[in-house]
Order: sequence, then C-alpha cells, then structure tokens
Amino acid sequence: MNQLELIPTTPVEQPQPGSRADRMRKPLAKDALKQLAEQNGVCVRPLALRRTDTATGLTEVVEVPCGATLAVKCKPCAERGRRLRIQQIREGWHLADEPAVRPDKPGEDVLALVRVRAHLEFERQALHYQPMTPDERAAQIADVDAAIAELDEALAETSLRGHLTPKERDERPRRKRSTRRRQDSPDLPRLPVDPRTVGRAYSGKAGKTHRPSMLVTLTLGSHGPVHSHLRRGAYVARCECGQRHGPNDDVLGTPVDPASYDYRRAALDAIHFARVLDRWWQNVRRAAGWNVQYAGAVELQRRLAPHAHFAIRGTLPRRLLKQIAAATYHQVWWPPFDELAYPVDKPPVWDVNRQSYVDPKTCEPLPTWGEALDALEEPDSRPAYVARLGRIDARGIEQGTKDAERSIRYVTKYVTKDLTDQARPRSDAQKAHFDRLHAELSVLPCSPTCANWLLYGVQPDGVKAGLAPGRCTGKVHQRSTLGFTGRRVLVSRQWSGKTLADHRADNRSWVRAILAGGMADTEEHDQAADDADGSKRYRFELARPEDPDVPPLEHRLLRAISARIRWRADLDTARIRTAAAVSATAAPLRPCCLNHSEDRTPHGK
Ligand SMILES: [Zn+2]
Ligand SMILES: [Zn+2]
Ligand SMILES: [Zn+2]
Repeated sequence: MNQLELIPTTPVEQPQPGSRADRMRKPLAKDALKQLAEQNGVCVRPLALRRTDTATGLTEVVEVPCGATLAVKCKPCAERGRRLRIQQIREGWHLADEPAVRPDKPGEDVLALVRVRAHLEFERQALHYQPMTPDERAAQIADVDAAIAELDEALAETSLRGHLTPKERDERPRRKRSTRRRQDSPDLPRLPVDPRTVGRAYSGKAGKTHRPSMLVTLTLGSHGPVHSHLRRGAYVARCECGQRHGPNDDVLGTPVDPASYDYRRAALDAIHFARVLDRWWQNVRRAAGWNVQYAGAVELQRRLAPHAHFAIRGTLPRRLLKQIAAATYHQVWWPPFDELAYPVDKPPVWDVNRQSYVDPKTCEPLPTWGEALDALEEPDSRPAYVARLGRIDARGIEQGTKDAERSIRYVTKYVTKDLTDQARPRSDAQKAHFDRLHAELSVLPCSPTCANWLLYGVQPDGVKAGLAPGRCTGKVHQRSTLGFTGRRVLVSRQWSGKTLADHRADNRSWVRAILAGGMADTEEHDQAADDADGSKRYRFELARPEDPDVPPLEHRLLRAISARIRWRADLDTARIRTAAAVSATAAPLRPCCLNHSEDRTPHGK
C-alpha cells in the first residue's frame, strides 16, 4: 500500500430506497459530487479497506485513493501521479552526488522459498537424464512445472523484485543469432562504462558551480512528407505542398501524398520503437563511457508516429549524440513478411488430422514457426525488418532555470492521457490517416504468436485451431496504441535513486514536518498514515462496496471532500506560520516545493 489516505468512515443512513427523493437525486448528485471531488483533488473511486486493530480487535473501514495513472479513470489520482513524476524528474536531473540505491536484503522467508525453488530446478533438469519413456518424462516434468508455478506465485507475493522463471520456458535449443554488424551503420566509439552517473560540473564566476544537463527529443525517420505548420519567428514558411498552413489547419500531420506514404514502415517503426529506444540508451552509455541517466516520456506526434522526450543528467557532445542516433537500430529476426501470401478473407485453414494450418487450395501444410526460424540460420539470411532512429534534437539546460522547469512540464504534459489521446484526429483528412495506419497495423504480425503470420504463409509459434488473422487481439493492433505498446514513462534506475513510492513518502514527511510546527495532532488521517507506515498493529483487507459496513460511495466522497477542504485550510495556516519562522532564521525548509505552486497540494491529502 503506497498511497495512504486513510479516512475512517462510519455507515450513514440512506434515504428511503425507492422513494421519489432517492430516484431523482442520484444521477445529478453523482455528477456534482464527482466534479467537487475533482476540484478538491479527492480520488473519485477510492478503495475501501477494512482495518483491524490486532491489539483491540476493533475493525473499521478506511479508504485509499485508487492511484490510477490515466485521467479517464481518475483525474485527481492521475494528476497526483503526474506531479510526483515532475518532482522525480526535478530531483534527479541535476544531482551533484551519486544517488544511493540500496535494495533491502531478502528476508529468511524469501530465501527459504528460493531454496526450494533451486531444488525443483535441479530435479527438473535431472529428469532429462533419467531412463524413462518420453511420455513418463513429459508427465514428470509437467508435475515439477506445476510445483514451480505454485512456488513462483508464492514468491510473487513476497517483496522480491523480478522473476526466477522465464515467462515461457523454451524447450528448443537456443538459436544463435547473427550479431554481425550491419555494414551500413557507422561504427561507434566503444568505451568501458564507468559507474559514474553524475554529469560534469564547471566552476564559473564568483565560485559558482554550473551543472549543465540536456533535454533530447528522439524522433523516427520520415515515412513521406506530411503537411506541416512551419513557423520561423513571425513568419510562416511554405509546407511541402506549397501552401502556408495555420497552426490548426485540418490537414496538419496528414501525408502530402497518401498514395506514396509508407504506412508499412510507419506501422513497423511504431511497433518496434520501444526496442529502438532500449538500443539507443545502451549505445549512449557505451559511447559516452559513463552510466548516463535519463527520465522521459513517449508521445505521439501529429503524424501519428511515436517520439520521446528525455531529460538527461549531464551533457554529451551534440556531434556524438548525432553519431549514436545514426548508428542505432533494432533488427527484427522474424521470418520475412514483406508481402501478404493470403488475403485476410481467404486465410489458410486448420487441418484437424495434421494439427496444422494448410493452404486452402493445395492442402499443403504451411511451414511451422520453428521451420521458418531454421531458414533464418542460413548464412545469407537477413532480418525481416530493421527499425532505426531518425532525428535527434538536443538542448543544453542549466540547473534551476525557468528553462529547466518548463522542460519538465513539457516532458510530463501528457502522461495522464492515453498515447493516442493528444493526437486525436479532428478533420476527415486526419481521420483517414489514422484509419489507414490502423488498417496497416491490423495485418502486420505483432509477435511470434500473432495469428497474422498465417497471412504471410507461416504458422505462428504455439499454433492452435481457431486463429483469426486480421483480428489478433494483441495491444499492438488497437486504436488506443497505434502500434506502440512499450512503457510511456521511462526513468532509468539511478535517476533520483528513488521510486515514485519513495517520492510519495518524502511528501508525506514534509507535510508532517510542517504540521508538527503549526498544528496539533488533531488530524486523524495523518495519524492513520503514521500507524500504517510504522507499526504492524493493523491488519488490512479489501472491503467490497456491497459489504454492510461500507457506506455508499457518495457518502464516502462527501466525507473525503470535507476532510480535504478543512485539511488544506489547516495546512495553509501552518505553512504561513512556518514560512514566517523560516524567513526569520533564513534557512528554507524545502525551497523547491515552496516555490512551485503545483506542489502545494501534498500528495494523498
Ligand atoms: Zn483515484
Ligand atoms: Zn501542406
Ligand atoms: Zn497480433
């Protein structure tokens, strides 16, 4: 539990069920309530938790915010998450000292589970060498696998991060991949990577230290010219089509020539963009020779291609960045899928006897996934696709400037929205462009198991009856992703040395510090947060909305709104008092938060 907003609630009397008052009240009141909750930053769909005091046996229902990251689900929670991101980026960007990342030591309970897990792994491997029939072996391995699955589930409930079992255990021998460098990629400098994560400092006038950093934007290459609003100061330049487009022109972002626009590449670049970004950061670290840290977000451009903005700690020569961008690529080692072998309405059919898909005319079975991969082992085989980075824009940013603050807002601007939300098509031309790209995505393979492989004459991995090419439900094919299914917000591990939950906790202790100076401990939620943080006195379980001790959502929201308004007034009073005391002693308590109005609302309160 990381978002602590614990407001004890008690059942409130409901209006006569079925009465006119009851019927007329509901929809309108609900809307007003939601609006008020949003205005006051109160979660609109709080979870009810039943808290049992193990010392006294008393039980009460407390609430925690839902913690949604998308505004469509819960605006206040998403907004709070965005503010935490802002804080995280601000704190990590110009760090002067290496952040300390010290994972906790695993407890004895965790170690015991891992020990059993090790024995099972040994047994599983040993089964391969013991004399028995293949059927027997398969059955015994299945038994061990079931035990492993159970144990992994138990491990998942511990505090352990990551997994011990690969998602799908592959029985086939590992294929060796061609790691030959592509001839057309310029060579990059390769330096041993120093563990340093902090950028260089420069001393300036009057003993001042400068710690410059960068903001970079990574964009995919062109898939064909698109109508653009090109501003050069007060002057609007001509678009490729010869016209000058205003900033809200209907055709913006759509191809100048839809017929020659490369929708296939646009779709494939979107699908593999996350991998290209991975590659990019690997290359940056190798070429820079130190452990470069970044925090950023992926957005959709108006032309519907994903691109990414990153704050980078420290600076790198612009020329080197350009060189790295040019050398960054991701090879897709899949069977070739350049051309459709079958139309979507006449795909290969399932042959029950052969347990495989066959050509509808010749009844010949299609090559299996394994056979298709074997063909890739030939020395002259090529990757099915190579995704590359296009342009890189880099700007130097100085610590503590307006520019730095503006850049942070810029990077986090859309993180509470779905990727396609901010590039929603408005005109017919933009809708057509969106639809065309989506149509392309719906016939491309999204993964080795995608049903769309049938269209290219290959049986997908893990083939089974009932596959419907063109209607794969993978996220890649959906209108809400337009191909990009990677993480939207990317923060490297040693950015601030803290997780979002840590930043949340920081805010809480800051609020407590202020309140300690200004307010008595009358606040029940702060009390509850203290208890939940420290002691193991309480046991929590999720309460269901229909449980008799859980008051209706409306009543819970009303109470939360009222508590928030009172709480904020108290905090404001306390802050004024603290600020006065601080200016008297000239030692700012927490300058970065007091200066930014956005952070005035502490999280979770
Ligand atoms: Zn919420
Ligand atoms: Zn144009
Ligand atoms: Zn798919």
